[in-house]
Amino acid sequence: MSATDSPAVPAPATARVAAARREPLKAVRGMNDILPDESALWEKLEAAARTTFDLYGYRNMRVPVVESTALFVRGIGDATDIVEKEMYTFEDRLNGDSLTLRPEATAGIVRAAIEHNLTYERPQRVWMTGPMFRHERPQKGRYRQFYQLDVEALGFEGPDVDAEQILMLARLWRTLGLADVELRINSIGDADDRLAHRGALIAYFERHASVLDEDARRRLHTNPLRILDSKNPAMQDMLAGAPRLIDGIGPAARAHFDGVCRLLADAGIAYTVDARLVRGLDYYNRTVFEWVSAGLGAQGTVAGGGRYDGLFAQLGGKPTPACGFGSGIERLLLLMRDAGAVAAAAPLAYVVHAGDAAAPVAARLAEAIRDAGYAAVLHAGGGSFKSQMKRADASGARVALILGDDEVAARTVTIKSLRDDGSQAAVPLADAVAHVTQRWGR
Ligand code: ATP
Ligand code: MG
Repeated sequence: MSATDSPAVPAPATARVAAARREPLKAVRGMNDILPDESALWEKLEAAARTTFDLYGYRNMRVPVVESTALFVRGIGDATDIVEKEMYTFEDRLNGDSLTLRPEATAGIVRAAIEHNLTYERPQRVWMTGPMFRHERPQKGRYRQFYQLDVEALGFEGPDVDAEQILMLARLWRTLGLADVELRINSIGDADDRLAHRGALIAYFERHASVLDEDARRRLHTNPLRILDSKNPAMQDMLAGAPRLIDGIGPAARAHFDGVCRLLADAGIAYTVDARLVRGLDYYNRTVFEWVSAGLGAQGTVAGGGRYDGLFAQLGGKPTPACGFGSGIERLLLLMRDAGAVAAAAPLAYVVHAGDAAAPVAARLAEAIRDAGYAAVLHAGGGSFKSQMKRADASGARVALILGDDEVAARTVTIKSLRDDGSQAAVPLADAVAHVTQRWGR
């Protein structure tokens, strides 16, 4: 160990005990493995998202998975579900800093934008994807490590980008074949509007104190608006009668909201104004929106976002208006599967070979197919033709290219179709790549 290396930190006792046992280890609860058969649909979704965001001029960026805990406490707000009970927070073992696995992406992106002066010359449209971490009770559509698509427009003030992001999602749903996701929008006004509304809201909740659950009682004076976001079934009737913030918002916030609604109507996007929609994070103002599917129950929100004009200043940056959303990839995949979407990653060709003379010919043929831009799997590990053909079939390849002593002697290759008619033909080796790619390549 050199003098500059950090000293070794001993593994915690529990980890040492587990290591001493020889039983297989399991993934952490709520954190899923995405195996190759499932991953093909993930890639299809990610490709559709990338293409859609590209079409609107949003550029990819990436921020770290770990940030200072203070970023989320300041950014998301300390009287929110995420900060109160869902964060994976730990101490850096060496210097004691409090660090947190990111529960969402916006705070990190805004931190990065401030740190690198990203919006100094012009506003920026950006997007990212990656894992987020929240300590919630795992269930269908709700996990402790989950993936989000996250989109942010930084430095834009008008209602046009709010509408643009909603339109962009509507296009993504069309591309993915998701028909029954509904749009809900609301305006939670500006800070003054919320302050003016706060007294009436607290008074209303106090009159209904007997129905408030523990979370609501705790937030009554710290964050009463957040109570509207509760999913507790026992409180829903009471919440439906709460004073409506949107009815009292000031003229500037009203004009902004009307602008968003007009642009949505122009684009033919149907929406419902939901006065109770406030979203679970403190940084929002004015426009908030959610896309919801009835098919997923309490996990029905597939995308949520809104405007956060105060967040830059709250995180120590220059005031910068902005708007963005996050969308849960696992929930979108559940909907895609319900809609019958399938995807499989499969090579064009699987090259089967037997005999010392055939091996190098097979290797060159596989490389030639790859040179032409198509995927080819070269059988590895030997075995009979029969067992190799089973592997070829399982690979999902469209054709098997078969090379044995006879083919090598005749300078041909036997091409067997695996997916359609099962036909088989011998083709001169020199024509094999052209033949296979023209007939079966896509
Ligand atoms: P919910 O009300 O379902 O808890 P949220 O309001 O906490 O969602 P956001 O913080 O708005 O969620 O995150 C954006 C999107 O990320 C959600 O609409 C959802 O699609 C997805 N999401 C949030 N939490 C989880 C989770 N634990 N597991 C899977 N997806 C999630
Ligand atoms: Mg949540």
